[in-house]
Amino acid sequence: MKLENLKNQVGIKMNYRDIWEKTLKNLEKDMSSVSFNTWFRNIEFVDVKDNKVRLLIPHPLYKNHLETNYRDQILATYNSLSENKVDDINFILRENIENEEKIETLDVDNEDNNYVFESNLIKHYTFDNFVVGDSNTFAQAAALAVAENPGYIYNPLFIYGNSGLGKTHLMHAIGNYIEDVQKKKVLYVTCDQFMEDFTGLSRREHDNNIDYINYFKNKYRNIDVLIVDDIQFLGNASKTQQEFFHTFNNLYNNNKQIIISSDRSPEDLKLLEDRLRTRFYWGLKVNIDPPDLNLKINIIKKKIKGERINRDIPEDVINYMASHSGNDVRQLEGALTTLIAYSTIMGYQEINLDVCKEALKDQVKRNVVDANDHNSIRKIQKVVADVYKISFEDIKSKKKSNNIAIPRQVAMYLCRKLTNESLPRIGIEFGGKNHTTVMYSCNKIEQEINSNKALKDSINEIEKLLQ
Ligand code: ADP
Ligand code: MG
Repeated sequence: MKLENLKNQVGIKMNYRDIWEKTLKNLEKDMSSVSFNTWFRNIEFVDVKDNKVRLLIPHPLYKNHLETNYRDQILATYNSLSENKVDDINFILRENIENEEKIETLDVDNEDNNYVFESNLIKHYTFDNFVVGDSNTFAQAAALAVAENPGYIYNPLFIYGNSGLGKTHLMHAIGNYIEDVQKKKVLYVTCDQFMEDFTGLSRREHDNNIDYINYFKNKYRNIDVLIVDDIQFLGNASKTQQEFFHTFNNLYNNNKQIIISSDRSPEDLKLLEDRLRTRFYWGLKVNIDPPDLNLKINIIKKKIKGERINRDIPEDVINYMASHSGNDVRQLEGALTTLIAYSTIMGYQEINLDVCKEALKDQVKRNVVDANDHNSIRKIQKVVADVYKISFEDIKSKKKSNNIAIPRQVAMYLCRKLTNESLPRIGIEFGGKNHTTVMYSCNKIEQEINSNKALKDSINEIEKLLQ
């Protein structure tokens, strides 16, 4: 019964998605490529709910424009392709879905939700569109070797490097390849997802909920390949570490492939138990370095081709983008999108260096502070350390002298104020402090700002630097 439900749900989901893909193709034919790329390229299909197609938009700005100019066209095109007609198209933001998910996880009676297997793979992250250069050759080769022969040569494969260098892309590429070519069952999860599933497990164990335990085991063990992204966040969740350890052993002993990524090397995963950390050495660890100029240029060119951006973008403009976008490839992509959107909206027929400089003005300024580091907590730590003239290591240390403890508290306070990171996660980034320490620091600074003008001024200064 449950299995039937599961199959039905999965079946229906894929169908809707196919219709959406076709809708997109038809829409693309009916409008200029600039409009299509600007308004449709970044939309993601979510599902059909209450007879409405729900589409994920990247920014609130899209909503108004799409509703006014394109809703009817999308609806008509979709309905012309689907047997099940829908009434409307809803444009939603990621927050909307996240809120909804929170409500759904609380709904413990709704068991069938748990039995839908999804690989979570993002289809468009492939080897074909992963550009290779000096900084990632080894990682790409290792990834391909694993994709061609999962579970045998390099197990586990451990990929590490700074944020925005292509770890997630490469892992999905492996997963997609194995799914398509080897026809094996792949599961991609972020570390957060794993922790959330495990928390569900311990909560429900109380109620003796065998179904959920089976679901968890089934999800994580009845697979051929497990991909876990951003393992550094396993942090000090010791029970989750234990469960991950068991999952790991179970898969490993059955020759199932495990692929893990992290923003730091296994040696630097200080909060992981040794027995788990040492297992990461059993296979192969590969590092992705920041891209050099040449690779950045090639990535931009590939993206221009791959996304069929039908605008002529001269070499000097590409060079400018590549050399002014920091080392994070996400920023590089952002620069290109901004440039296209800016020139389209401003009505520039020709994209030249002046247009590019104008379009990327803010972004280039931000990069100066960014110090090529996408991790916002680390960015705050660096800037605070700089301003207070202490070292980046000190800010994460246990040293208690005021000249270090105060900047550390200020940095924690700013992390809490300026990022969406949780207290435990901020604690992890500050050398493994407890979340109560973080909370204490934040409260202390918050109070002290009221009476200490010098402190308030320096915090304002730092915030300006971080903007
Ligand atoms: P990470 O997981 O290391 O933070 P991602 O894999 O999310 O980085 O990469 C960020 C963005 O940059 C993605 O859109 C990805 O497709 C793109 N990207 C990174 N490296 C490359 C590359 N070598 N070729 C093409 N695109 C890349
Ligand atoms: Mg990633």
